[in-house]
Amino acid sequence: MSVIEAVTMAAGLAYLVLLAWQARSGWQWRLALGLLLMLWLLTADSLLWFGLGLVAAGLALWHHQRPLPALEALDSQWLRARTRQLLLLCWGLVTLQYCLHVWQLGQGISPWLVRPDVVDGFLPIAGGLGLRAWLGQGLVDPHHPAATVTVLVLSLSALLLGRAFCAWFCPLGLVGEWLHGLRSRLLPGEWTPPRWLDVVLRGQKFLVLAFLLFIVLIAVPSAALPGYLASPYHQAADMKMGAFFFNLTLISGLCLGWVLLLTATFRQGFCRYLCPYGAWLALLGLLTPLRIRRDPARCLRSQGHDCDKCSRACPSRIQVHQLIAVRSLECTSCLSCVAACPKRADALHLGTRGRRFSPPRLLGLLCLLLLVLPLLCYGLLGIWVSQTPLEVRAQLLQLLPQLTH
Ligand code: SF4
Ligand code: SF4
Repeated sequence: MSVIEAVTMAAGLAYLVLLAWQARSGWQWRLALGLLLMLWLLTADSLLWFGLGLVAAGLALWHHQRPLPALEALDSQWLRARTRQLLLLCWGLVTLQYCLHVWQLGQGISPWLVRPDVVDGFLPIAGGLGLRAWLGQGLVDPHHPAATVTVLVLSLSALLLGRAFCAWFCPLGLVGEWLHGLRSRLLPGEWTPPRWLDVVLRGQKFLVLAFLLFIVLIAVPSAALPGYLASPYHQAADMKMGAFFFNLTLISGLCLGWVLLLTATFRQGFCRYLCPYGAWLALLGLLTPLRIRRDPARCLRSQGHDCDKCSRACPSRIQVHQLIAVRSLECTSCLSCVAACPKRADALHLGTRGRRFSPPRLLGLLCLLLLVLPLLCYGLLGIWVSQTPLEVRAQLLQLLPQLTH
């Protein structure tokens, strides 16, 4: 694990501690927090303590300048924007570290930066096969365990929170928004495809997902799974993925061009039309009772106003003002609709039938599932860091073009 990963995961834990400390009520939060702290004390190594120390020092410095804000009082869109920016910064640093590491490996230099294992999160096939081997055969993938953990925690987060990961955590979504913003400046206008084209384009991400599920569930028989996980191709999966985009061929160039074109042309083009993770989270998210819910009795429309501010604010173009509960596959729980509603949480909220979820608590659950659970997998189960020896990776890098499955 790299320092940046340790700091990011520790920041998730620190957020949860702050949230519970500021709430100072609710035995469930205290119990969960007590358990987490106990697990931390049992499992944290020197790197995690160092990461936590950096986060605590940063928070203390902030508090010294001006008091830490009350989390429950924060504006949802402010909180979401800061979270995404921080995570994008971490992702940027991690990507830079990974590129430097591989470059040094390629030059025959012993890398002085460790390989950040979180990059394995971009390997959905390795993650899916690893999870299948773990759950079905009790076999932990030694080469990309972080991919297994990523698929597991993302799936859990979708079952509980729908596509909230897309709006609150995903760095690609934010980069896509910037790209679309740049296009809108150069060629002004909000371009929306006609309905039939929108449906066709949205089908792409499910097609990609179907292809990935075919490989994960059918193409590799159970008996061949241990052999596949030990194969040189699988061991080099992250470098193969990097080479696909960095050493452009005609096919990878066309794929990349299509991704950039859709992302820049349409609002949320990548998330809406292309991302297979988004499609997977959307399908699992159908099972969650957590939804955006509109109370027609409190909505301004019940008083004769022709209000549709929630729908106009929705980046996924959902007609929120006509619904009682949003069940769309495209809803990412971004809460832009709630923030735009003149009656705010009175008329519109995120929650189950009987319980409302405030934005800071939604973020707390995301931190618990997507940062603290991986941290426990690392500390408690030892499942995060790749066991592939550096010499083997250096050899595989030289053989990369010849490696096939
Ligand atoms: S319905 Fe609301 S929470 Fe869902 S995507 Fe639209 S604006 Fe975001
Ligand atoms: S913005 Fe609020 S008041 Fe207006 S239609 Fe939507 S829920 Fe009703």
